[in-house]
Amino acid sequence: MTDVRKSGQFVVPGEKIGVIEEFIPDNGTYVEDGVIYAKNAGCILIDSISRKVSVYPLTKGLAYPKIRNIVIGHVVGIQGSTAFIRVIKVGKRFLSGFFTCALHVSDVDIRYTDEISNAVKVGDLVRARIASYANGMFHLTTKGEKLGVVWALCSKCGETLILKNKRNRKLYCRNCRNVETRKIASDYGSGKI
Ligand SMILES: [Zn+2]
Repeated sequence: MTDVRKSGQFVVPGEKIGVIEEFIPDNGTYVEDGVIYAKNAGCILIDSISRKVSVYPLTKGLAYPKIRNIVIGHVVGIQGSTAFIRVIKVGKRFLSGFFTCALHVSDVDIRYTDEISNAVKVGDLVRARIASYANGMFHLTTKGEKLGVVWALCSKCGETLILKNKRNRKLYCRNCRNVETRKIASDYGSGKI
């Protein structure tokens, strides 16, 4: 393998995707002598965190992420100024797997956000838009009224946080009266994702 595979590349059945030293084979792939091949025609999806590689068939109407798509995902980690979001839904379709995207603090809001942890926390469910693809990863933005956290748990006791004041974006815990800040979506708490 001399060429570097990227998410979004179209492959046909039997086409080489990579080797098991670089990727973990997942949906839509098979392995022969340590080489990963496409099982069906579709687009390569590489999760840059888990290194899982899958092939999303285009014929079955499964969701494949594109720039500008709206996605739903869980915050799975925060590193420096970036939150990592495991996307489970693209547009109206749930994925059969998942892939991890990045949300940088500068892409959180049109207002200045000093720290990413004041906008999202691990475990939050977030609605975002895919803004770009760079360095092997989709980058998200939550700039916009309908984008941001749609559901969050109290970081002290684990209860669901309710929206107390839409203007200052404070979320409130009925159980322990903890108050937390997030970049919330305008329909936070509606149960709709
Ligand atoms: Zn609480």
